[in-house]
Amino acid sequence: MVNSTPYIGRFAPSPSGPLHFGSLIAALGSFLRARSLGGRWLVRIEDIDPPREIAGASDQILTTLAAYGMHWDSTVLYQSQRLDVYQQQINQLLATDNAYYCQCTRKEIKAMGGSYDGRCGTRIQPHKTGAIRIRNHYGVAQFQDQLKGTIAVDNQFAAEDFIIKRSDGLYAYQLAVVLDDIHQQITEVVRGSDLLEPTCRQISLFKLLNCPSPDWLHLPLACAEKGRKLSKQNHAAAIDVVKPQASINAALTFLGQAEVVPETDVTKMLVQAISQFDMTKVPTQSEILLIT
Ligand SMILES: [Zn+2]
Repeated sequence: MVNSTPYIGRFAPSPSGPLHFGSLIAALGSFLRARSLGGRWLVRIEDIDPPREIAGASDQILTTLAAYGMHWDSTVLYQSQRLDVYQQQINQLLATDNAYYCQCTRKEIKAMGGSYDGRCGTRIQPHKTGAIRIRNHYGVAQFQDQLKGTIAVDNQFAAEDFIIKRSDGLYAYQLAVVLDDIHQQITEVVRGSDLLEPTCRQISLFKLLNCPSPDWLHLPLACAEKGRKLSKQNHAAAIDVVKPQASINAALTFLGQAEVVPETDVTKMLVQAISQFDMTKVPTQSEILLIT
C-alpha cells in the first residue's frame, strides 16, 4: 500500500449473543490483518438496536476476545454512547437538505417495485415526521475490495435514498457505522461478506460527509448450509472460552492460513499467526460451507 497513514482496523460486533465461529472469523481476520501490518486494532460494540440485544452479551464478547488473546488498543467504543453525535449529524443533514422525512409504508415501497423511488423528497410540503432518508447524491454502485477486486451492486439499489433513522427512532446501522469509522479514523474495514452490498451505501455517506472512505476487505462467511451464514439468529454455538486453542487453529484454517503450534498461552499462538499471516491465501469466495 502506498498509503502512509498508520493502519487502524477494527472489530465491531453487535451484542446479540456470545461470539460463535462465524464472528471469530471476523475478529481474528481483522486482528491478524491489523497486527501483521503493524497497525492498531480497535473494538466497537454496535449496541443501537436494543430489541436484538441480550443482556451481558457485550461483556461476554470482550471476555472472549481477551481469552483468545485478541487484545484491543484504546478503549472500547459503545455506539449507545454516541446517540447525540448521530442526532447532530442528522440535524445537519436535514438543515442542509441532504436528508428528508419519509412516511412511506413497507407496502407502498413494495408497490414501487421494492426499491424506494424518492417521492417524499420531492414533496412541495415536506413531511415533518417519519423515517429519515439520505439524499443519495452519489449513488455508489461499485467499489474495490482488497481481497475480491471490483464489487458491483444493482444500480437501483445503489441510487436509493436509504434510511438513516428509522420511524421508530432507532438510528440506522449505515449512518452509525460510518460516523464511527470516521471518529475512530479507521483506515481499513475488515468484516464478513454479508456486508458487501451495504458498503456502497456507506461509501455514499462518506462522500456526502466529505470524508475519505477507508479501504474495504470482506472475508468469506462461515455457513452451515448454502446461503445461510452462522449467526446468533440460527443458534450457532458459542466458541470455547476455556480452551480456545482448537478454535484458533480452525479459524486460521478457514482463513487459508497454516495452523500454529497449540500453546497454553494463546498470545504465543497469535504471535506466530501474525508473523505468518498471508492475505493472499485468504479464500476470495463469499461463503464457505463448514463440514460438521
Ligand atoms: Zn416516502
